[in-house]
Amino acid sequence: MLLREVGYARPETVEDALALLGELEGSRALAGGQTLINVMKARAASPDALVDLNRVEALKGVSVRGDGALELGAMTTYTELLASKAAAARPILAEVCATIADVQVRNRGTLGGNVCSSDPTNHLPPLFAALGAEFTIVGPDGERTVPSEEFFLGVYMTAVAPGELLTRIVVPAGRADGFAAVTIGREGTCIVNVAASLEAGPRIAVGCVDAVPVVLLPGSADPEAAARAVRDADIDPPSDVHASGDYRRRLAEVLAARAITQASERRED
Ligand SMILES: Cc1cc2nc3c(=O)[nH]c(=O)nc-3n(C[C@H](O)[C@H](O)[C@H](O)COP(=O)(O)OP(=O)(O)OC[C@H]3O[C@@H](n4cnc5c(N)ncnc54)[C@H](O)[C@@H]3O)c2cc1C
Repeated sequence: MLLREVGYARPETVEDALALLGELEGSRALAGGQTLINVMKARAASPDALVDLNRVEALKGVSVRGDGALELGAMTTYTELLASKAAAARPILAEVCATIADVQVRNRGTLGGNVCSSDPTNHLPPLFAALGAEFTIVGPDGERTVPSEEFFLGVYMTAVAPGELLTRIVVPAGRADGFAAVTIGREGTCIVNVAASLEAGPRIAVGCVDAVPVVLLPGSADPEAAARAVRDADIDPPSDVHASGDYRRRLAEVLAARAITQASERRED
């Protein structure tokens, strides 16, 4: 389906992007367009204008800060992350990004777009939730930083309000992390995914079972403890053509055990 007519602006600075989002009624930020353009074609979203962030250099890049934490520009594509040496500060990020969809999507899709979509089946919301990421948001009233528990608010809803931009995501350095998913076909959409980290935990985050990642603290890195934490959480996943809620619930236990086992193996490396 063709897009309906839409305004388009391509600013080069964050300040100009914010000004345009404020001035242009019904406008929306455009990152990689891998979600937004598709939902516009399906008429599920119909912004009047797109503010394309692709020329805003300040929103791109991967770097290691003085305290060792990894700073990710919101407009960094998955492919750029994969090519970045700095990303080795938290290896699980590149490993997971390498499994998202196909090369075309990875070349265009951005870290910021992935989390701002807050699609419950996306890979990155549970991953960032397990890693204890912090999200920096800028708007007309200035800048603020929120933890993942306050960032993901619902399906397609985040702490980034209309007229605001996510500028960067910060994750502490570390390597004792794991990620396990069952997908619809190779590199397909996740039926359930679970991220685990022992760096600030043990902490696990289950995706695809609720509107936002379900974060659990199993108390120990034992796989059975992780599975039990999921069981005790009383999650109520949706049923759809791909899987029943019961299947997703059981899958979440199995994947939690796998993800925490991977995290434990890395701690011992
Ligand atoms: C065929 C296909 C398969 C896919 N499979 C997967 C998958 O298995 N796993 C997965 O995780 N993803 C998958 N995706 C989604 C993909 O990862 C998208 O790239 C991602 O969800 C959105 O990123 P984007 O940069 O394309 O954002 P866009 O589509 O440009 O934007 C998405 C939303 O975020 C907002 N936004 C973007 N950046 C900012 C910002 N900096 N500040 C404020 N708001 C912002 C936009 O306004 C829009 O509402 C798939 C996509 C396709 C087309």
